[in-house]
Amino acid sequence: MSLEKYRWDLVNCERCSMCKWVHPWSIKSKERARICPSMQKYKYDAYSAQGRFDLARALLEGEVEMTDKAAEVIYACTLCGGCDVTCKFTRDMEPIEILQELRALAVAKGKGPLPGHMPAVDSIRQNNNPWLQPRSRRGHWARKMKVKDLSKEKAEVLYFAGCTYSYNANMQEVARSTLGILLNAGIDVGILGANEACCASPVLKVGMVDMFREHAAKNIELFNSLGVKTVVTSCAGCYGVLRSQYPGVGKMNFEVKHSSEYLAELIQEGKLKFTKEIPMKVTWHDPCHLGRGSEPQDLWEGVRVKWGLSEPPRERNYGAQGVFDAPRNVLKAIPGIELMEMERIREFSWCCGAGGGVRSAFPEFALETARERIEEAESTGAEALVTSCPWCESNLGDSINAIGSPLQMLSLVDLVNRAL
Ligand code: SF4
Ligand code: SF4
Repeated sequence: MSLEKYRWDLVNCERCSMCKWVHPWSIKSKERARICPSMQKYKYDAYSAQGRFDLARALLEGEVEMTDKAAEVIYACTLCGGCDVTCKFTRDMEPIEILQELRALAVAKGKGPLPGHMPAVDSIRQNNNPWLQPRSRRGHWARKMKVKDLSKEKAEVLYFAGCTYSYNANMQEVARSTLGILLNAGIDVGILGANEACCASPVLKVGMVDMFREHAAKNIELFNSLGVKTVVTSCAGCYGVLRSQYPGVGKMNFEVKHSSEYLAELIQEGKLKFTKEIPMKVTWHDPCHLGRGSEPQDLWEGVRVKWGLSEPPRERNYGAQGVFDAPRNVLKAIPGIELMEMERIREFSWCCGAGGGVRSAFPEFALETARERIEEAESTGAEALVTSCPWCESNLGDSINAIGSPLQMLSLVDLVNRAL
């Protein structure tokens, strides 16, 4: 692929600015009308999808060079996909694909990834995780659990912990709790331990497309060889890339579910019953990669014809097919929990600020974006902010600590576990 594929979009973008705002029908207040964290932080149009379209068109036409400054503009974006959803309500453009394509071009021109991204990239190359940890320790989080090792045994379900829930000592409990719940519910589930590998989402996000495809192809081959019916993960980042990008890499003989979907099904089937009440007001943060970013992509190859129509017709991604109801249904099923919704939710959610390599390369931008979400969460009257993504939990949690917010940061499975 190259920017050439998107020439029509780049030339015909109406510079209408819709990609900076929540869809007008869903705006609840002027304070929470914005959807683009990058535009909110940097103010200049260059830092919106619209501005990056201008940069992409100029790069395509050879009017500007890929400079260090251009690369900074390209990477100072959380790849949250808010622009993609809002553009498609009025125009048939592909902002998120173009933003990804700009990163691939930055890599091809030697301007990307940025220095802040390199420790994670090098670690994925060497250790198959971005956390500079030896691969041999990957399965240690489950060493005291009695669970099948799918490298040696068969099971219907693979629990894929992901790098962060495997290695981060403060977050391993999420993986242990989720796996414990599945085992107690009688699910035939196993893990890969030290043989689990990074989903490679971080390298895709910084534009290293070949490296991503190589890792993704190996993972697909491994999962297919296990003969599992379902791969379950608690990580929104892993889930988003497995559901929306892996189908473009190879044939998958298994379905992918986020743990919130699996837990919601267990509750509905009566296999998971709550015995304790948790009297608490909570609000749910939709992770971008679990929500609008997980929508399966139409692997379209074609051309634009008269009036910009796609030939053959291409399905538009409005982001509405992401995972929004399952976590809310889990929360509503817990006795005593009262769900207080924020103004920007579902496909119009405000990003936590960590995505797209921003937390590594632009930490202040990441924290400022999180602060806006914390203030939005506080305004609901909730006592706790709940989500199910290690990046959102870390970034929002850091912001809660930085501003001294009274909100508790909780993972969905924490609440489920407490209520059992
Ligand atoms: S990217 Fe889409 S929403 Fe943004 S200015 Fe262009 S046409 Fe409008
Ligand atoms: S992906 Fe998110 S941060 Fe990047 S331009 Fe689009 S709305 Fe802005």
